[in-house]
Amino acid sequence: MAAVTDYFGSLVFDDRVMAARLPAKVYQSLRNTIDQGAQLNLDVANAVALAMKDWAVEHGATHFTHWFQPMTGITAEKHDSFISPAPDGSVIMDFSGKELIRGEPDASSFPSGGLRATFEARGYTAWDPSSYAFIKGKTLCIPTAFCSYGGEALDKKTPLLRSMDAINRQALRVLRLFGNDTVKCVRTSVGPEQEYFLIDKEMYKKRKDLIFTGRTLFGAKPPKGQEMDDHYFGVIKPRVAAYMAELNEELWKLGILAKTEHNEVAPAQHELAPIYTTTNIATDHNQLTMEIMQKVADKHGLVCLLHEKPFAGVNGSGKHNNWSIATDTGMNLLSPGDTPHENAQFLLFLCAVIKAVDEYQDLLRASVATAGNDHRLGANEAPPAVVSIFLGDELTAVLKSIEEDVPYNAVERTQMKLGARVLPRFPKDTTDRNRTSPFAFTGNKFEFRMLGSSNSIACANIMLNSAVAQVLKDYADELEKAEDFSSELTALIRKTLKEHKRIIFNGNGYDESWIEEAVEHRGLSNLRTTPDCMPCILEKKNVEMLTGLRVYSEAELESRYEILLENYCKAVTIEAHTMVDMAEKEIIPAVESYIEALSSTAAAKKALSEEISCCYEKKRVAKLAALVDQMQAAVDELDYTLITLGMTKDITDQSILIRDEVLPRMCRLRAPADEAETLTAKKYWPFPTYGDLLFGV
Ligand code: ADP
Ligand code: MG
Repeated sequence: MAAVTDYFGSLVFDDRVMAARLPAKVYQSLRNTIDQGAQLNLDVANAVALAMKDWAVEHGATHFTHWFQPMTGITAEKHDSFISPAPDGSVIMDFSGKELIRGEPDASSFPSGGLRATFEARGYTAWDPSSYAFIKGKTLCIPTAFCSYGGEALDKKTPLLRSMDAINRQALRVLRLFGNDTVKCVRTSVGPEQEYFLIDKEMYKKRKDLIFTGRTLFGAKPPKGQEMDDHYFGVIKPRVAAYMAELNEELWKLGILAKTEHNEVAPAQHELAPIYTTTNIATDHNQLTMEIMQKVADKHGLVCLLHEKPFAGVNGSGKHNNWSIATDTGMNLLSPGDTPHENAQFLLFLCAVIKAVDEYQDLLRASVATAGNDHRLGANEAPPAVVSIFLGDELTAVLKSIEEDVPYNAVERTQMKLGARVLPRFPKDTTDRNRTSPFAFTGNKFEFRMLGSSNSIACANIMLNSAVAQVLKDYADELEKAEDFSSELTALIRKTLKEHKRIIFNGNGYDESWIEEAVEHRGLSNLRTTPDCMPCILEKKNVEMLTGLRVYSEAELESRYEILLENYCKAVTIEAHTMVDMAEKEIIPAVESYIEALSSTAAAKKALSEEISCCYEKKRVAKLAALVDQMQAAVDELDYTLITLGMTKDITDQSILIRDEVLPRMCRLRAPADEAETLTAKKYWPFPTYGDLLFGV
């Protein structure tokens, strides 16, 4: 087999290919666009398009597509072939700079949240040169942004790029104040750890709930779940290992830095982590990773479940968003430095994150809110729905000493001096690990742990980048007019800590008492469900921040509110309909068949001898018959609620109805069905059980 180093990135039009295939001038011009966002002219675009097409055709591509990320949360593509008719009846393979730069897919069926009037169905895709083109199957995929005729973003990439611009601008201002004139660009980086479940494809096909909704809507607890903790980091089974091997290969060909893989806590649950990269690319790569995970699974007779909560009673799947801020000169701004000077700068960036997370905790929470993730957050495994920051005891003590203006005694008992004020020096990388915090400092990065496994990481990073950019902007405004930089700096840090230390919590985030303290004493918000979260997108302070930084326009924010709530409503409505369908067409008939079998057994026994009591059959039949009645009643109730829902037009009202009426009724239908499962002979049960699914690979 070929060496990884030989085929890594072989399907990517990356820097190596560009340098080798583009004329030097064109290459340089493109690099300026990639690195500094310089305008790209049509001559350059034409030259790049030609080289891209030749390269793609050599690699077997026949089509190209503008690959984009609409608000559905998944990626979209429309393929066009390269062929162009020649006068002699043959065809040539053709691709122009115009086609590279701009596409015009019919956008009428993508969610726009009212941004696009129906008479103006056109949408535009625009090339994002900062993310490399790649080949998938026989198609050259060109990463693009997607916007309406009026220029409003209809996707997740555009606001993400804008948020990266915002943090770049503001971080540069702060760095200049620290006397740094060499840094040209500041970017955030992300390494997203992706969790998933693998189950057997034949079993999957027998479950309508998995097919229609991605999660099980029924299923009694199996005799064994995750209580033995024997799956986490356990030996990887051969079938799963074969899957992972092929997955890695496919990802490596696409230049995705798949690095770590292991079994997770729940049976059949696994994780894949790539090496971190620029947020924009990490987002594209994560979307591709999710897609390829599912494709490769299919080849192995498996199905990869990316839903946040495929199974009740065992852990759900999340995505840990490891996030840091770095300069083009290779400096990580969230890494405590070796010198006192660097530490002052580090402390300021650290404080910016603390303040940002406190002030925009609602937005961060909202950025991960989906119907699926509502089953996780606050449900004793994932972080709670309350946002807080874990810093570790050492760093917390350092900050406390600054806030209270007392010397900090580090291990080495050295202190750092900065002008007249004393800022402490402290050893690097002393952070302990805490797995229950939603937002944990891990030495040189923050790990935002609230993301659901199927979420696009764009949303969380848009909010994170923007919130921090806003605070850096406020800091730069203050510091630029300071007469004495170092005393103003210390004052700023102190003020931030005084005002925002409530967000810092180093204890157990799963503890009930923490939720009480957070909400009652610290005034942190506890937004438990998607309908609770969404209104904050339109709150004044948040709208001002996001529009002020030009990350979103007000209309774009309103459209997000609409679309995200609509997604929530649709997801749950489909689940409810699926439950009704499964109960009526599969579960109730199965139980009735078993009742019939029990009854005829009893009759047969009686025919043999009047002495036989048939006690077992009688009891079982009575119990099952009662459960069937309960199921039928629950189905009727749920059906009725769905009719009411259908008549509710306003999306906010709909979402509240779903939260308060539909979801509880789904639970009321599930309970008797799951109980009936435990009382029904296996051969009568119409689909694979939790035990089959979780231990079947
Ligand atoms: P864990 O203990 O959570 O598994 P790791 O050190 O293995 O932590 O890193 C997890 C993820 O964090 C990986 O994707 C890794 O590439 C990423 N990561 C490491 N350093 C940084 C950084 N400076 N910025 C962003 N992500 C990072
Ligand atoms: Mg982690």
